[in-house]
Amino acid sequence: MYKIIDGKKIAATLREKLKDNVLKFRTERGREIGLAVVLVGNNPASQVYVRNKIKACEEVGIKSFAYYLPENTSQSALEELIVGLAADDGVHGILLQLPLPDGLDSAKALKLIPEEKDVDGFSAFNIGNLCLNATASVACTPLGVMKMLEYEGIEVNGKRAVVLGRSNIVGKPMAMLLLNADATVTVCHSKTHNLEEECRRADILVAAVGRAKFVKQEMVKEGAVVIDVGMNRDENGKLCGDVDFENVKDKCSYITPVPGGVGPMTITMLLYNTYCAAVRR
Ligand code: NAP
Repeated sequence: MYKIIDGKKIAATLREKLKDNVLKFRTERGREIGLAVVLVGNNPASQVYVRNKIKACEEVGIKSFAYYLPENTSQSALEELIVGLAADDGVHGILLQLPLPDGLDSAKALKLIPEEKDVDGFSAFNIGNLCLNATASVACTPLGVMKMLEYEGIEVNGKRAVVLGRSNIVGKPMAMLLLNADATVTVCHSKTHNLEEECRRADILVAAVGRAKFVKQEMVKEGAVVIDVGMNRDENGKLCGDVDFENVKDKCSYITPVPGGVGPMTITMLLYNTYCAAVRR
């Protein structure tokens, strides 16, 4: 019988703890923890994400500074804002919501976020430290996956983990975190040969491909832990993951649902990274 990993519940538990820690920080140091959120343009999904992030900050007592820039913002105006936030003592973390509208260079803008305020863990410095298994701000989604595994008491050490996807924000940091936790890690991507066979070897399978219901029963080993990072729309426009949940669940020991799995953990890790950035400062 499989167990559903309830990301919503785990996220709520972690946020309660975080709320206490934020309050303690404010009481002991007499100052607020601040997160600046920058949204450029009118992407509807980004607007929802930003709204949720701001709401989540309020919930745990982190002060948020929201900057809504118009679609036609110039690169220099965006960079000027980030440079200002970088120098602002009241801002402990800076989040630049991606994707940016066409014509803006996100890599150039992200480079202006100082590593100690890089709460998304996208900078070369933080990625480098993650690879060195040193203190780092780690990309929120993969960090959230590790916290879920930890919360459920799922052993990673010595396990065979397969990560489907090699993006800089999910697949690669996910693989590195699992490796740091002593799993034997395989990363699969669009050029991988015998992908199904690779997946079938996984004790822990993390799907981050961005393809609706991509992972089928025959790709999953009996008793595997299946973590679904995907957020897609199915043929009826309904939110679904990269895993064909109904088809796969009976083979798993643990499985995450979509929605209500990895998603709620991502924002919680953003709050966690902001708190850690404030403490480190
Ligand atoms: P991405 O940048 O598009 O990367 C997708 C990865 O999947 C790439 O490495 C790609 O391989 C691989 N891939 C695509 N099609 C494949 C196929 N047919 N066979 C094997 N590999 C394939 O996506 P991402 O940003 O990592 O996001 C992945 C998914 O997670 C998306 O659904 C996204 O919405 C979701 N997501 C969710 C959260 C959350 O909070 N829940 C956060 C971030 C992302 P190549 O490198 O070879 O092209």
